[in-house]
Amino acid sequence: MSRTSDGIVIVGASAAGLSAADGLREGGYSGPLTVLDAESEPGYDRPMLSKSLLAAKEHTAPAPLRTGEQLADKGVELLSGHGAAGLDIDRRRVVTDWGEAIGWQQLIVATGVAARPVVTTGGDPLPSLRTRTDLATARRLGTDGHPVTLIGGGFIGLEVAAALRSRGVEVTVLAAVERPLAHLLGDEVAGWLLGLHLAAGVDLGLGHATTRVEQTPGGYDIHLSDGRVHRAASVLAGVGAEPATGWLAGSGVALDHGVVTDGAGRTSVEGVWAAGDVAARWDPALGRHRRFEHWTHAIEQGRRVGLNAARGEAVAHDAVPYVWTEQYGRTVHLLGERRPGDTGTVVEGSVESGDFVVVHGAGDALHGVTVCGRVRALRTYKKLLRSRACLNDALAAASA
Ligand SMILES: Cc1cc2nc3c(=O)[nH]c(=O)nc-3n(C[C@H](O)[C@H](O)[C@H](O)COP(=O)(O)OP(=O)(O)OC[C@H]3O[C@@H](n4cnc5c(N)ncnc54)[C@H](O)[C@@H]3O)c2cc1C
Repeated sequence: MSRTSDGIVIVGASAAGLSAADGLREGGYSGPLTVLDAESEPGYDRPMLSKSLLAAKEHTAPAPLRTGEQLADKGVELLSGHGAAGLDIDRRRVVTDWGEAIGWQQLIVATGVAARPVVTTGGDPLPSLRTRTDLATARRLGTDGHPVTLIGGGFIGLEVAAALRSRGVEVTVLAAVERPLAHLLGDEVAGWLLGLHLAAGVDLGLGHATTRVEQTPGGYDIHLSDGRVHRAASVLAGVGAEPATGWLAGSGVALDHGVVTDGAGRTSVEGVWAAGDVAARWDPALGRHRRFEHWTHAIEQGRRVGLNAARGEAVAHDAVPYVWTEQYGRTVHLLGERRPGDTGTVVEGSVESGDFVVVHGAGDALHGVTVCGRVRALRTYKKLLRSRACLNDALAAASA
């Protein structure tokens, strides 16, 4: 089955893909524009899945990123429920799981990531939280009055714990590390967040990895690295994500834990670009390719790649990384990146009050800033990080 596009095709209709469509039109591209996505509904506000939508008493669907009208205004043909199954570089076609072949002049890969599976010894994958379908499953957890065990102490595991606790569900978090999120937020802020979980009654099982999960008649036996077995009635796994690149295997597009791109989003194949969580972009500061799994990054980089593809440019996306998390009504923002060995200094407020600015760096180098409560400070510190200011500049900004 052949379906002609003759224009630009974007695979993935979420933050990066839809922003790339915006960038293409903004950059002056006026030809056919087709966006396909494996999910049956167009892109939606994914970060809310583990926050207000899980905490809410009533089920609410996540807000769509674009209305049908907005897409029509931009001349975007959206093919929901059309997964890309393969890519033919020579004939410039995407092959869908419906067996259609969609031709393209340029292609933007924005297929994001999929939750890393945790599979029981019987071969069944545990529930995770990545899509709107997963949300429906996650919302049922604990409604039978049984406690819920979360495997993984990353952003998603901890946000899910907070959301379920707010609905009165008994929750245990199992994590391999002693202090979840400390590598991103620093010891002090991570310790304070754990304190919020303890105060809310979350049972924390930290410092031991899950080695295997056995399904039992009453639930699950979760085997830990110290030999203990944790009995769980129901489970959700949040142990990271893997780039959704299976459909590109053998296509000729270079892959290395993501789609390898230069700073501008160009892949190893001319006319093929990548953006968002799936893109392993060249980072000159680190001297290697790296991926971000951040919402704002996917939007900004998606738009940049769209502009580049429309204008035939190769402008690098060079923004300060930004991610946030919401737990127990507190929003913690992280600008830039804490690096291994960095020390954190509280420069405004105090961590225990939940109203603070902590700067992270080594020597006089400023690498990252964690903010809670003081949202107006974000602008100042973002500017400092963008201008590659030093720690002393951050201290001066704080005292000003
Ligand atoms: C529960 C949750 C909470 C989060 N909270 C935050 C937060 O608080 N802050 C933050 O910064 N980030 C957060 N994130 C991360 C953020 O959602 C991602 O960084 C962002 O969604 C990445 O956008 P993307 O467009 O690159 O990829 P995705 O949003 O993953 O979208 C990829 C799209 O591609 C489609 N697709 C995949 N494979 C195929 C295929 N073969 N064919 C066709 N379509 C395909 C998928 O269906 C999907 O719609 C959260 C993520 C999750 C899951």
